[in-house]
Formats: sequence, C-alpha cells, structure tokens
Amino acid sequence: MTFSDLGLSEPVLKAVTEAGYVEPTPVQAQAIPYVLMGRDLLAVAQTGTGKTAGFTLPLIDILADSRARARMPGALILEPTRELADQVASSFDKYGKYTKLSKALLIGGVSFSDQEKALDRGVNVLIATPGRLLDHFERGGIMLNDVKILVIDEADRMLDMGFMPDVERIVKLLPQMRQTLFFSATMAPEMRKLTEQFLSNPKEISVARQATAAETVAQGLLRVSTADKREVLRQLIRKENVRNAIIFCNRKRDVQILWKSLEKHQFSVGALHGDMSQPARMEMLARFKAGEISILVASDVAARGIDIQGLSHVFNFDVPIHSEDYVHRIGRTGRAGAEGHAFTLATADESKYVNAIERMMGKAIPVVTLDGYEPGTEDEAPRSRDRRGRRGAAKPAAERAERAPAAPKAAERKPAAAKPAAAKAAPEREPSRPIALDEAKANRRRPRERANDEADDRPVLAFGDHIPAFLLRPVIRKSA
Ligand code: AMP
Repeated sequence: MTFSDLGLSEPVLKAVTEAGYVEPTPVQAQAIPYVLMGRDLLAVAQTGTGKTAGFTLPLIDILADSRARARMPGALILEPTRELADQVASSFDKYGKYTKLSKALLIGGVSFSDQEKALDRGVNVLIATPGRLLDHFERGGIMLNDVKILVIDEADRMLDMGFMPDVERIVKLLPQMRQTLFFSATMAPEMRKLTEQFLSNPKEISVARQATAAETVAQGLLRVSTADKREVLRQLIRKENVRNAIIFCNRKRDVQILWKSLEKHQFSVGALHGDMSQPARMEMLARFKAGEISILVASDVAARGIDIQGLSHVFNFDVPIHSEDYVHRIGRTGRAGAEGHAFTLATADESKYVNAIERMMGKAIPVVTLDGYEPGTEDEAPRSRDRRGRRGAAKPAAERAERAPAAPKAAERKPAAAKPAAAKAAPEREPSRPIALDEAKANRRRPRERANDEADDRPVLAFGDHIPAFLLRPVIRKSA
C-alpha cells in the first residue's frame, strides 16, 4: 500500500514524499479513505502510530477549495495540551505546504491579541486547547457555526485532565451537520459513552490492542531502593547507549530536583514542568529537538505531545501511579517502527503500580539488573551507604538529599550493563492477567483528581471532595 492508493491529492502526496514517508502507517491506511468519504471516525490509536497525519492529510484535501473567512474556521482540532496543539500546527504546515490553507493556533500562555490578529486574517483550520478556545468564544472573537469538521484528538487525555465538560460545551456550539473524527489511545466504557454523544455512525478502527505498549519498545524494570534511585539512574544512562532521552517524574518538584542533580553530575540535561513559562518551555523543547541537550526531565503533563524523531530512551524515574500514563510515556520512544528503550525504576513501595501496569498490558515488564547493584529491602531504604557501599544509620531526609557520593561511585562498581534477568531467579511477582473491569475503573482518576498530574502541588482552594488530613486525626484531649 502506498500513499497514492489512499485517494490523496497531488499537493499532499508531494508534501508527504518530502517528509520522507514511504508507506502509510496502519492508522493512516485505515483512516484516510473513510475521512475522505466524509464519514465520522472513531479511532483507537496510541501516540506514535502516525495518527496526526492520519487526520491532517485528508483534512487538508477536504478543505482545499474552501475560502478562509475571518473568525469563522471551517475545521476545528481540539488538543489537550499546548505542546500537542503546537505540534499539530507544525504537521499542518508540513503537509499543507503546497496548499493555500491558513490556520490559527489558540493555546494558553500566548497573548490574546496575536491570536485575534491571526483570526482576523482568516482561518480554514483552528487548532486549539479547549479552555483558550472558550475564552475567545466568550470574548466574541470567534464564530463556530461554520465548522464542518471537528477533530477531538487524545480524547482519553482530555478526560484525564478534566477537559471533557469544556469539550462538550464546544461541541454544542458547532453545527449538527458536521464530520467528527475522534482519536483516543484507550477506549474505556465511559469513553465509549462520550463517543455516542459526539459521533454519528462512525467508522471504527483500532490499530493497537487497548492500552498496549508499542511492540518496538524494549522495556525493562529495575528494582531499586529509594535512596539509590538517582545513582542507579546515572549508572543506567551511562551504560545505555543513550542518544536522547526523556526521564519522567511523577511530581514537578522532583523534576526540578533531578534536573539539578543530573546537571551537577555533568549530564547534558534540561527540564520541562508546569511551573515554567510557555516561552521557557518552548525554548527548552527547541534546544532538546536541536540536540543541544540530550536528556529532558519532565512531568507527564509537561511532556504530553512531545514528538522527537528517533528518541532513543524513556526512563521512568517514578513508576506512573496511573497505568495509562505508562503507555503514554513509553510511547515517546519506538515511534513509527523505530526501536526504542524504556526503563522503569521501581522501589518496593511502587510494586503495586507496577502490578497494575502489567495487568493492564496483560504481560509483565521484563526485569533487568545492573551488575553489582542489589536493592536493599524497603525498610533499609532510608539508610544511607558510606563510600564503601556499607549501609549506615538512617539520616534525616534533608541530609540524605543529593549528598555527592550517596552510594558507591559507578566506576567503583563492576561494569554495569542493563541485562535481562532471565537467568536470575524470577522475582516474586503476580502472574500477569487481564485487568478486571472494576479494577480498571478503580485505577482511573476522576476528572477532579486528574485535572493535572501536578495537582497535588497546587494550593487547595476549597474543600470539595478533599478532606484536609487534620480533620481526620483523632482529637487528643489534654488532661487538665
Ligand atoms: P504521531 O503518532 O502522529 O505522533 O506520529 C508519530 C511519528 O511518526 C511522527 O514523528 C511522524 O512524523 C511519523 N510518521 C507519521 N507518518 C509516518 C509514515 N507514514 N512513515 C514514517 N513516519 C511517519
């Protein structure tokens, strides 16, 4: 199958050839003909499958003859994050270079007036995050009654981040007669319910098993003690042939700490987290893409939508608490058929999250070891090691944090290649089994909880369903 078999126009085919694509990916081969026919689409496709071109290419052809009207887009693409929206906008430029279509990008963190000017010039396609789009609508800066095609991309992410009410509001502002394309990496029952609201007799396609990690990603699980995490990570990076990598942390404060720590150890490293301004994030991303820095420490939200061609490694410094994030994280590598590597560091405390991930994927993550490294048991974890690697007395956390030689130096240890532990005794792990429905449900965050994976760093504004811990503590009466 070639791109020209799919019914795309010459200008689009020319741009595709220049992008270096030889063959359509499965999601492209399945989706493009139906989108060109005008059918609604329900696509279960994870990131890295080429889904962006799957909707952008036919969209360009469908809109090719339409006139760009000020403030009245003919197509709307909704994305959960600024980075992802920015990336779709770049794809649109890349694939639409031989057409006269115009686009506007409406994302937070950028001035309204520049976006308004772009809208005034006339737009065929609007690429937006839901919140910023509604802001423009409420200011009267945009009319949505000419939208003929709606794309809801990364719908599971929208749900995770609590954006679905905004998406539902937006959909109500659009004409009933339209074509809707809906993309999601997973299709939980609650998601299917939503699709019934948005789609009409859709063509359903699925390019990967639900919540399956890309086959081209070699995965490894490394058991570590809490106190050794940073040291083990450094060794692993040095031993692996890392060209460029993203290291994921669960919390933005840990992103900051790990970034500074790796910098101190002379790694070429940058970071992305929610507290950075949009220009600072964009600059960091540009430096990473240009190869000026080879490692990026990031949180899930900040890294969402990053597309780096040929990313060689993903490291999970923390096991993601929500299993679906594992698939999203490791999907950053092994893209479009290229081989990738994903290593996850797991403490004993994190085993429950590993089990949940393995149940979701229906298979175990192979355990790998670093020669010469044995994790202590978790009750030993707070203990430090002296320069010879002997375990010592527990020290206060503040003292433990980033002491220079917290553990034996890499050089003092045997050469440590991460190698499969198949020959070793299998660790005691629950056998993999498909996740039960109620477990899957329990494992999903409610929108309020999931609004941002950094939410626990934000101040609590109102109690809502959050009960402050002090209210739950037993009252101790003081004797008179
Ligand atoms: P996506 O899943 O849309 O984020 O795309 C993943 C990556 O695959 C992007 O870097 C695309 O440039 C690349 N890509 C998309 N389509 C193809 C194709 N047909 N052949 C090779 N690479 C592709």
